[in-house]
Amino acid sequence: MNKLSDIGTIKSILSRHGFTFSKSLGQNFLINPTVCPRMAELSGAGQGVGVIEIGPGIGVLTNELCGLAEKVVAIELDKRLLPVLEETLGEYDNIKVINADVMELDLNSLIAEEFKGMEVVVCANLPYYITSPILMKLLEDKLPVRAITVMVQKEAAQRICAKVGSRACGAVTVAVNYYAESQLLFHVSAGSFMPAPKVDSAVIRLDVLSQPPVECDDKRFFAVVKAAFSQRRKVISNSLSAGLSMSKEQTLDLLERAGVPANARAEQLSLRQFADIANQL
Ligand code: SAM
Repeated sequence: MNKLSDIGTIKSILSRHGFTFSKSLGQNFLINPTVCPRMAELSGAGQGVGVIEIGPGIGVLTNELCGLAEKVVAIELDKRLLPVLEETLGEYDNIKVINADVMELDLNSLIAEEFKGMEVVVCANLPYYITSPILMKLLEDKLPVRAITVMVQKEAAQRICAKVGSRACGAVTVAVNYYAESQLLFHVSAGSFMPAPKVDSAVIRLDVLSQPPVECDDKRFFAVVKAAFSQRRKVISNSLSAGLSMSKEQTLDLLERAGVPANARAEQLSLRQFADIANQL
């Protein structure tokens, strides 16, 4: 068993390095020994596969990934964790730790340089303060990755994995479904982390599509989705008129040309209907 998920081992490593948790960096480390092996297994890490991990922390998930994958590149923003990772990952020669903010990195270049000839997947226990920006960056950068397996807050997982056209659907649901097929894999209780967050979590997997399921210009599609959900309680004609700065008449004409009822609400529309509106813009 990976000793790193043992709470005694973690405490002793952290105290030896004088490490204190940073709340603002979303540092909640996994202490439940069953979670990381399951996540690593379900991420698709294996022979011939390169893995990008975001936020390795003290390396509990990284350890599992290194045991399965051809190579792991772990991106950690907190430089205080570098000496810790050197110690905890010392037995592996297929790991590279990069001290950087994932939001600032050119991940396409990183993949081209680090994972030549390999399939690539992402696997991470994400810092919750930037879950959506990270996920959107991973998808919008159109990285050549097969799947993205991440731990996120339970509510975020439910929103992301909701069906487009259902009550629980939000802008992020539509955005994720434009690029990937999403699946909620399993739930993880708050007590599985140190320090324990206030909310439960869940692991989701996004299987990245080779192309969007609908044909349209990305920028227009996302402008429509953003405007439609900016006032989700309003009917679509009002939210689009406000969000796209168009007159009521122009908006009604747009919706008629797209064949979308003016009194529908954003959460009721299908991916196809968002694309039809974008294509008529
Ligand atoms: N993987 C570890 C685990 O499961 O125990 C730690 C996960 S913890 C929820 C999130 C990690 O992301 C922390 O180590 C934190 O320092 C790191 N982090 C926060 N913001 C980051 C960023 N913008 N870029 C890279 N790493 C970041």
